[in-house]
Amino acid sequence: DNPVQRKPDWIRVKAPVSKDYHETRKIIRDNNLHTVCEEAGCPNIGECWAKKHATMMIMGDTCTRACTFCNVATGKPEPLDVFEPKRVADAVAQLGLRHVVITSVDRDDLPDGGAGHFAQVIRAIRHATPETSIEVLTPDFLRKDKAVEKVVEAQPDVFNHNVETVPRLYVPVRPGSRYYASLRLLDRVKEMDPEMFTKSGMMVGLGETKDEVLQVMDDLRSARVDFLTVGQYLQPSAKHHPVDRFVPPDEFQTLEKRAYNKGFLMVSASPMTRSSYHADEDFERLREA
Ligand code: SF4
Ligand code: SF4
Repeated sequence: DNPVQRKPDWIRVKAPVSKDYHETRKIIRDNNLHTVCEEAGCPNIGECWAKKHATMMIMGDTCTRACTFCNVATGKPEPLDVFEPKRVADAVAQLGLRHVVITSVDRDDLPDGGAGHFAQVIRAIRHATPETSIEVLTPDFLRKDKAVEKVVEAQPDVFNHNVETVPRLYVPVRPGSRYYASLRLLDRVKEMDPEMFTKSGMMVGLGETKDEVLQVMDDLRSARVDFLTVGQYLQPSAKHHPVDRFVPPDEFQTLEKRAYNKGFLMVSASPMTRSSYHADEDFERLREA
């Protein structure tokens, strides 16, 4: 086991106490939905849910992969729930979201990796609240022919897929995934629809070097990725990959500058940045620009 290190004071966690937090929680519960906010034990939940910003996790709470940084349970998932798209759309309407992020577990057990289900969720939200912008944060659909195409055809506003770490660390950190397959997936989205925004993200503090992080940025720009998020890895428990180091805030600022210089349209790099953190505000800013 890897004992969980004490966090430095720049990792701040706001206690979930507000009225709006509880209202968000009730809407999620009433619609029988899972959120990555809870499943991942995200430290931003107090802040995000106070603004009704919850990231729905579809296709169950059990993943077919076992990434060593991730808190989601691994196992044999339940069959897909055909009523889930409607419940997600209802929750988006009840939360009054202008921008929603939808993610999922990996479903290697399904012939299309769950791409068709993603598409149905997108269509259900469009139908219920056409003014809500939709960001999907998808699995890599590894070896699932025509899966990414199904999702792009449903026309989300932002197609997000995280590379999570540098290629050298894929074996210890993301053993079931392939770095170059993830890059190719992102490039394929642009190939199909050059107007669709693409986004990716990574964690730092897993043992990568600064040069490796800069190389990932270049790789993502080569795949024409528009938005980038970089955040501090936090170890969910002693069973998970250890934190190699806590990257200080000024290093994140430097990374953010470097990323903008490389041509990303939107960059969020800070200790508390997560893939879906402030995704609504960032997208709004971009839309107004
Ligand atoms: Fe949820 Fe994302 Fe906010 Fe974390 S940062 S609480 S995962 S919306
Ligand atoms: Fe967690 Fe995603 Fe890896 Fe599954 S594929 S273990 S949900 S990070």
